[in-house]
Amino acid sequence: MEKIYQIGNKSFVLDQTKAEAAYAAKRVINGRQTMTFNLLPLKYQWAYDLYRTMKANHWEPEDVPMNKDIEQWRHPDLLSDVERWIIMMGIGYFSAAEGIVGDNVIHVVRENVTAPELKLVLGRHAHEENIHADSLLYMISSLGINPHECEAMFEDVPTIVKKNEFVTRTSQNLRRDLDLTVTANKQLLAKNMFVFGQCMEGTQFYGLFGMVLSLYRQNKFPGIGQMFRYTLRDESNHIKLFRNLLMDLIEENPDVWTEDFREELTDLMRTAVDLEKEFIRDCLPVNAVGLSADEFIQYIDYIADRRLESVGLPPLTAGVKNPLPWLAEMMDIQKEQNFFEGRVTEYQKASSLQNSDDDDL
Ligand code: FE
Ligand code: MN
Repeated sequence: MEKIYQIGNKSFVLDQTKAEAAYAAKRVINGRQTMTFNLLPLKYQWAYDLYRTMKANHWEPEDVPMNKDIEQWRHPDLLSDVERWIIMMGIGYFSAAEGIVGDNVIHVVRENVTAPELKLVLGRHAHEENIHADSLLYMISSLGINPHECEAMFEDVPTIVKKNEFVTRTSQNLRRDLDLTVTANKQLLAKNMFVFGQCMEGTQFYGLFGMVLSLYRQNKFPGIGQMFRYTLRDESNHIKLFRNLLMDLIEENPDVWTEDFREELTDLMRTAVDLEKEFIRDCLPVNAVGLSADEFIQYIDYIADRRLESVGLPPLTAGVKNPLPWLAEMMDIQKEQNFFEGRVTEYQKASSLQNSDDDDL
């Protein structure tokens, strides 16, 4: 089917069939190889919707006041050693982790997926990791923490080193020219999506999220707590993004989803949970006011099972209860009125104005 545009003495022929073939060749992997970026017609509607949600959540670290945090940090009596150590571990771990995630998004996942709307939302994901990395820089410089100490944390604290090695292992062989028509290679990529989305961002981030936000609930580190809330909200979208990518990849490539492979993923989650529990014990070697390591450890069991179920895998410790129900509310930032009168609200307003006429794309 062709359409001819006659403009003056020139004619242009547009071939609908060719365009439809291009659309039909959209795939998570092994789709049409092209440098062009035609989003429409969308095949992965969820990816575009998620991109818009993520964009509407935009925040800037400098908009969050740090004066209370600085006052508490400098005062010799306002904080216990454990509370200070949790912040050090939080900054030390996430400074490394945000970079690792961003690098993997750009150089492994975005590089290997082929549909433009998937590349679009992955670009936004990488940008959010940059915002998170920047927020840590802002925390470090506001509190006056020696940045060399921060670097040393992820070189020298064994439980941080182990967590980082666990995830970077799954991205090393995936960087270039991987033949994704081979089942074993597809499984490497699927494993990467699972480890980064469900084990790391989905589970291993949650020990510290819980601890820092527990402090925040006691009015300690209000600025840092605020940034962690925004980060947690972003992470929940990253977890969803990687979950959907994995599910669509499996649907399009059923050869990936073998019994052995499913067992391998479950085992990886088991390792991720063990590493996180060791890490929590390092963050909280003694109980502090309102903070018990056992509760955070139980929370990790609970959250890991939710991640496993979300991708159709059996839970590790079925029936475990959520010991921190307030953490979910902490994430629900939109519901609050006047809680932060900064750009976050304005961005959301601006983007909802644009929503009206292109909602049905
Ligand atoms: Fe992040
Ligand atoms: Mn993330």
